[in-house]
Amino acid sequence: MGEILVLVDHVDGAVRKPTLELLTLARRIGEPSAVFLGKGADAATETLGRYGAQKVYVVDAAEVDDYLVVPKADALAQIAESASPAAILVPSSADGREIGARVAVRLGSGLITDAVDVVAGENGPETEQSVFAATYQVRAHVTKGTPIITVKPNAATPEEAPATPAVEAVSVTFSAAATGTKIVATAAREKSDRPELTEADIVVSGGRGVNGAENFVVIERVADALGAAVGASRAAVDAGWYPHSHQVGQTGTQVSPQLYIAAGISGAIQHRAGMQTSKTIVAVNKDEDAPIFDLVDYGVVGDLFKVMPQLEEEINKR
Ligand code: FAD
Repeated sequence: MGEILVLVDHVDGAVRKPTLELLTLARRIGEPSAVFLGKGADAATETLGRYGAQKVYVVDAAEVDDYLVVPKADALAQIAESASPAAILVPSSADGREIGARVAVRLGSGLITDAVDVVAGENGPETEQSVFAATYQVRAHVTKGTPIITVKPNAATPEEAPATPAVEAVSVTFSAAATGTKIVATAAREKSDRPELTEADIVVSGGRGVNGAENFVVIERVADALGAAVGASRAAVDAGWYPHSHQVGQTGTQVSPQLYIAAGISGAIQHRAGMQTSKTIVAVNKDEDAPIFDLVDYGVVGDLFKVMPQLEEEINKR
């Protein structure tokens, strides 16, 4: 297969982990080229090359920094129109999904969102997705135009494959809609030593069983012992025990870590929709009939206030 465009997710040139995962997946199906939009390309190029980008397209225009997603979609579509890539991979963030959809409309292409795996198939890239609140795993490929695929974080482990990328500055003609919605302020990200929920290799989540904001320390201590992010069910968030930004599920964040530990969470379909694609799932619940046990790899029937401290102690011994 030919060139695979990877849209870079970055903060002022600091490349975020999902992009490294996309470059790793892109190498499975073709030759990755990175598309860097905004400021900081110099800082990012070395990292992108280290993970196998053969080329970096750079659009350093005020529009992509100052306005919402339309200028980014314009830039990616324009690069795709001139490069004619074999596929385009985009991170499955809220922005990424919108950019993917806009580019698909512009190119008249098929779009697959929220893939958890991408492999080379007989008819182009083949993806795996989990649909209908994770009830089914579906394999799919795009049948029309350039395949555009948004990929969920943790779909692959980033692997280095050092290359020295050629850098091409691209000048974009923006559409009339590009400057329709201006960014007036950006809230600073919550400062934490823990990894971000969507990017973490391990997530430890607490639910109604945690029974109070003050008890979430039990969840946090296991998370810190494992270097994990902390998640929460909607019941715990609605009760005000943990911030909404940590909610996992259909109306929260969707995560797909290597390991997901659910403590005091029953396993409602809306929670499963946010974590069912995790590679290994462990649950601690005092009710042996809790639905969460239907999907776990390892289940512990017990009181989380006994089990979690023991787990923390054992991890800290190693
Ligand atoms: P519960 O269902 O009350 O379960 C608590 C569990 O803790 C029980 O299984 C109990 O046995 C166990 N437990 C209690 N004490 C202990 C103890 N000491 N030790 C061990 N186990 C114990 N939910 C989400 O999580 N995310 C979403 O994004 C989401 N979106 C939704 C969207 C819609 C439109 C709707 C209608 C609902 C949504 N929900 C979502 C809510 C969802 O339906 C459930 O109500 C919610 O997930 C339940 O949270 P829970 O498992 O923490 O609580």
